Amino acid sequence: MADLQALVEEIHHTLKPRTGEGKVADYIPSLARVDPNKFGIAVVDLDGNVYKTGDCDEAFSIQSVSKVFTLTLALGKHGETTWNRVGREPSGSAFNSIVQLEHEHGKPRNPFINAGAIVISDSVLAGHTPREAIGEIVRFVQYLADDPTIAIDPEVARSEAATGFRNMALANFMKSYGKLQHPVDHVLGVYFHQCALAMSCTQLARAGLFLAANGKNPITGHRVVSSQRARRINALMLTCGHYDGSGDFAYHVGLPGKSGVGGGIMAVAPGKASVAVWSPGLNQNGNSLVGSLALEMLANKTGWSVFGS
Ligand code: GLU
Repeated sequence: MADLQALVEEIHHTLKPRTGEGKVADYIPSLARVDPNKFGIAVVDLDGNVYKTGDCDEAFSIQSVSKVFTLTLALGKHGETTWNRVGREPSGSAFNSIVQLEHEHGKPRNPFINAGAIVISDSVLAGHTPREAIGEIVRFVQYLADDPTIAIDPEVARSEAATGFRNMALANFMKSYGKLQHPVDHVLGVYFHQCALAMSCTQLARAGLFLAANGKNPITGHRVVSSQRARRINALMLTCGHYDGSGDFAYHVGLPGKSGVGGGIMAVAPGKASVAVWSPGLNQNGNSLVGSLALEMLANKTGWSVFGS
């Protein structure tokens, strides 16, 4: 569809001047030094056509977008019993909040806040050494995107481990409630490495395509999950995928999506396409400012909102 290519270019052209408005994550040096003017968009439709522009082929740190992939893996391993360990409700507090954990006896509200993602890393570890689990996550993402070049950025992984005191606190707190089955350092090793996956918008959009196509990657023909599971993962992304700004994202964009502090967002238009945007400047909720605006424009112009056109 030639129109879609024109549309992504128009969105890029319109929003590029605003890339300086957000605040780049600076809790580790490798994120702090990313050029705030980077801006990429990639859309992959169900026929595998790719519409892309800007810095769409430059790898960036996907950070919390990885939580969608590890959740998918954990559900594959443990099925619905996963929900005995982590809830499905929006948290209404910061992504790294510890307060709610105390109220709910160490059970995180959802798999996309840090505490929940750490529990999911623990489930992915079952039967594995940390190295094997990290390898499994990388291979799974390569399989989803059909791209064997996807890798972890070792410098980001090291920095996450060196500065991840809050995540260590969350993990120790949950361990004290008996909520983690493996040693805390093993679980965090997996978590820090998944956050350090480096992917481009094009790779990310391809990796999310199964969620737009009822669980089956329409390019490779691989069935990744059942259609029911794809629908449910999308529901979680819609309600919990944007930290404390999930309601706002649903209001403005109306698509299931997951953001990360690296400035990436992967969004899914069920039955239509998978989209990834990257712009490192973040808004007050820690979501890509220009990335969110780009998705809002795209959803408005295409009528792809799940709430109606
Ligand atoms: N590595 C970051 C953390 O765990 C991920 C933050 C994010 O993207 O939400 O704090």
